Amino acid sequence: MTTTAFISHADCLKHEMGAHHPERPARIAAIEDQLAVSGVGQRLTRFDAPLATDEQLARVHPAEYVRAIREVAPRSGTIHLDPDTAMNPHTLQAALRAAGAAVLAVDLVLSRNFASAFCAVRPPGHHACRARPMGFCIFNNVAVAARHALEAHGLERVAIIDFDVHHGNGTEDIFENDARVVMASIFQHPFYPYSGTDNPAPNMFNVPLAAGSGSRELQEAVRETWLPALNDFSPQLIVFSAGFDAHAEDDMAMLRFGDADYAWVTEQVKAVADRHAQGGMVSMLEGGYALSALGRSAIQHIKVMAGL
Ligand SMILES: [Zn+2]
Repeated sequence: MTTTAFISHADCLKHEMGAHHPERPARIAAIEDQLAVSGVGQRLTRFDAPLATDEQLARVHPAEYVRAIREVAPRSGTIHLDPDTAMNPHTLQAALRAAGAAVLAVDLVLSRNFASAFCAVRPPGHHACRARPMGFCIFNNVAVAARHALEAHGLERVAIIDFDVHHGNGTEDIFENDARVVMASIFQHPFYPYSGTDNPAPNMFNVPLAAGSGSRELQEAVRETWLPALNDFSPQLIVFSAGFDAHAEDDMAMLRFGDADYAWVTEQVKAVADRHAQGGMVSMLEGGYALSALGRSAIQHIKVMAGL
C-alpha cells in the first residue's frame, strides 16, 4: 500500500504570467523530473486535481471576491491583478484546480485512504488574503484545505506549517484569532511582504529569520517555538505551505537552507502528526524558483511524508 497521494493537473502548467516571470510552469516539471529520477514517483498514487467549487472557496473568500476573479479572467492576453500577479486565459482553471487539489488531499487523508498527500499545483496561495490577490497567489489553497477539514469533516483543530521564505500574510489574514487553527512559520525578515512581526494574533507562531540564516536557525525555531506550540495544540490534521525558496540556491531571497533541511523539518512535523493526528498531513506547493533545488527539496519533503 502506498501511503502518499500526489495530486496535480495539466491545467496548472498552462497558467503563465509572462516570459520572465519566476513563478513558471517549469517549476512543476522540475518536481516531476526529480520524482522520476529518484524513483519516488513510482511509490506515490497520482490523482488529477478537481476544480474547487464556489462553496469550498466561500469558506475562505467572500463570494464577491470569487465572482470578481471569474469576471476579470481574460479570454485572450494577460491581465494584472497586482504588479506580481497576472492571469492568462488558463489561470482561472489552474487556480480552481490548485484549490480543488487542497480539497481532494484533505478528503483522501481524512478518509484514511492515505496518510498524506502532496499537491504539485500552481498558482500558489499563501499570500492570497480574504479578498485580495497578491504575490503570485489568487486563492489561498492551504486555507481552503484547512477550512474544508474543519467545516466539511468536522475537525476541531488544524495546524498550518509554513516554511516558505516569505511570510504567509494571506493565511494569517484568514486565520488570525480563529482558535481552531494554529499557524507555525519561519520567514526571512525584513523581507516581502513585510508582515508577521507586528503583534501577531495568539494563534500565530511566527519566527522571523535574518538574511543569511540556515539550518541552525531553522532548527532553533522549530525546537523552541513550533514544537511546543504544536504539541500544546494537538492538531488533528497538519497542512503544509510548502515553499522551497529558502534554499541557498534560490536567489529570490537570502536564507541558506539545504536539501536536507527540508527532510529534517518534515521529520519534526511528521512526529507531531504521528502523535496527534494519526499521521495526517496535507502539503501544498508554494514558492521555490531555483528549479533544481526546488525539485530536489520537494523530493526530500515527499520522501519523509511517505516514509521512504
Ligand atoms: Zn515564497
